[in-house]
Amino acid sequence: MDHNVVLEEEDLVGIEQVWSESLDRVDGQIPDHIFSSMISPLKPVSLDADTFTIGAPSSFAKDIIASKYVDILTTAASAAAGHPVKVILTVASPPEMVESMAMRSSSGERQEDGRRLTPEEPGLPKKYTFDNFVVGDSNKFAYHAALMVAEFPGDKYNPLFIYGGTGLGKTHLLYAIKDYAEKITPSIKVKYVQTSTFIDEFIATITMKRDKATFDQKYINNKIILFDDIQALSGTDATQGKFFDIFNLLYGSNSHIVLSSDRPPSEIPQLADRIRSRFEGGLTIDITPPDLETRLAILYLKARSENVEIPDDALIFIASKVKDNIRSLEGLLNRVVASAKLYGQRIDLEMVQDVLKDQVAEFHQSRTPSSDVIQTLVATYYDISVYDLKGKSRSRPLVHARQVAMYLVREMTDATLLAIGGQFGGRDHTTVLHSCRKIESLIKTKRETFQEVTELTNMINKAN
Ligand code: ADP
Ligand code: MG
Repeated sequence: MDHNVVLEEEDLVGIEQVWSESLDRVDGQIPDHIFSSMISPLKPVSLDADTFTIGAPSSFAKDIIASKYVDILTTAASAAAGHPVKVILTVASPPEMVESMAMRSSSGERQEDGRRLTPEEPGLPKKYTFDNFVVGDSNKFAYHAALMVAEFPGDKYNPLFIYGGTGLGKTHLLYAIKDYAEKITPSIKVKYVQTSTFIDEFIATITMKRDKATFDQKYINNKIILFDDIQALSGTDATQGKFFDIFNLLYGSNSHIVLSSDRPPSEIPQLADRIRSRFEGGLTIDITPPDLETRLAILYLKARSENVEIPDDALIFIASKVKDNIRSLEGLLNRVVASAKLYGQRIDLEMVQDVLKDQVAEFHQSRTPSSDVIQTLVATYYDISVYDLKGKSRSRPLVHARQVAMYLVREMTDATLLAIGGQFGGRDHTTVLHSCRKIESLIKTKRETFQEVTELTNMINKAN
């Protein structure tokens, strides 16, 4: 296939594309937590010959961006647009933007009227709540323990340690705890944190000689604290020391500590014994791969939320394809829905079989491809070197190929965002997340990208 054509066509697409590319350029230039809290909630409003208007979710956010980040945005947007543009900020606030923004800004855990807001990870396509968590045999203990923490924090099962493979709903449950606890106790303080962010912030505090007390306060002042992917503590000696102190302070003040991990405490390497035994001192629960019935219920819920009708036999077909990762399961459904929307097809068994022919799912039944294989094939496909694929160049064809590669590694392997970042020249996990979401949305809106990803998936399958 002729990629030049694809790329030229991309030049014509409008404001969303320019915005998306601006984000790519800004990403990496500013700290992760600023990117996710300040930049990614922005929405492009209009673009003309020399002005790019961008909507911030609140006047608070608008003021901060105008005073601190407008220059970076201007440079990025001008490069993305291909000519100099002036960036103008306005307040554009659909309700869900206001909510998620207020949650993300560290000083803005509440709205001005004091109302407690619902949590949302930056850019998450759906909200993670107990309501939309399907309960089955594989996750019912984790679900009930999580519910208990939200309802009676500090009471029993402290700490609560939930572990299980990638894509089985750990992050979903952690967010659900925060969401629900804040609903029933509006004054409660709950903090969700990715452990890698905790580590980064701690290291930044030390190396940049920032105020340690400020760092501590952020974590200590909470009734419930949720550390996601705690296995990241492995091998971080100094951070483990700090973590231990914070853990003890929280525990001593009867705060509830919830930890998620991809493996049980006993299997996290290079973890101090005193921390391991703290982890084992409460309740440890695993989430296992869902049975067919649960997978079907999840697909059914998701189809309904996307407003698509899918006959049962087609749903069963999809559910039978992936057994051990709900994210991949949702990925398959996304491809079906994308194809139906792009090509105006009706979804039935035959259509689904056709779309998923040789697709991702086969992998989960046979071998998982290695990231190396995926990187090599993607590089070959786009006619670039693996070195460039992992490198720093931000030229458009490279960025696109890199994002597709990250997306495929995320879909086809069990690698975590953190690990994928490492495999792509040491990028951080928010960059990987941003790339995956970008390709996910392109697949739904651009036939070229849908086609590329389909062809690549088939090639990777065959090579494996
Ligand atoms: P993990 O953190 O364990 O890797 P996530 O919480 O990110 O997994 O879940 C991956 C995807 O699967 C998310 O979109 C999540 O909403 C969905 N998911 C996982 N378990 C369930 C469930 N029981 N019901 C509904 N959706 C689920
Ligand atoms: Mg997770």
